[in-house]
Amino acid sequence: MSELNIGVLSVQGDVAENIASTKAALHELGINGNVTNVKTRDQVSELDGLIIPGGESTMIGQLSLVNGSLKKIKKKIEAGMPVLGICAGLILLSKKVKDRVVGETQQPLLDLLDVQVERNSFGRQHDSFEAEISMEPIQISNFSGVFIRAPSIEEIGKGVEVISKFNEKIVAVKQGNILATAFHPELTSDVSLHKYFLQMIKNS
Ligand code: GLN
Repeated sequence: MSELNIGVLSVQGDVAENIASTKAALHELGINGNVTNVKTRDQVSELDGLIIPGGESTMIGQLSLVNGSLKKIKKKIEAGMPVLGICAGLILLSKKVKDRVVGETQQPLLDLLDVQVERNSFGRQHDSFEAEISMEPIQISNFSGVFIRAPSIEEIGKGVEVISKFNEKIVAVKQGNILATAFHPELTSDVSLHKYFLQMIKNS
């Protein structure tokens, strides 16, 4: 693979922050790569890896469904393209989603990550907070986890590896080419998780 082509799904949410973190991670690793805003279905075909950022999962899902990119993204991930889903991105990747208050949601999902997610899992008093977390299975310790109306993972299927827990709740997982976090790695200056994701793309 000569130059990596990494996309950030650019419908809504933390797009610019993820582009900046990915560029910084490429630089730190000395890897050649392009980081692009993915807005159309056709752009998806060109990608070696995709980040689905945090934001509002219902909105990101609906708009991607309407413009046809959701289906294309699903096919690419099924064919092995590495994907990093952050917060709303984690929700979109999942097979089953409930909201802490309203119960089962009717939102469009990619239906690939074998987990049940609870939206807004950390309650009102903790709508947003920062906490030290550890991701031992991928050799990242002392990472600053930024949680913003964050989901958590309540149940996992057989092929899902737990990467991190916070307060007994699962907050990061990996299932083959899918990496997903409930917190926002793009909102800290530490780009280790983005670097790990780039290595996944490089080795894929
Ligand atoms: N609570 C949001 C949702 O359910 C996710 C929050 C986030 O991405 N920061 O879509």
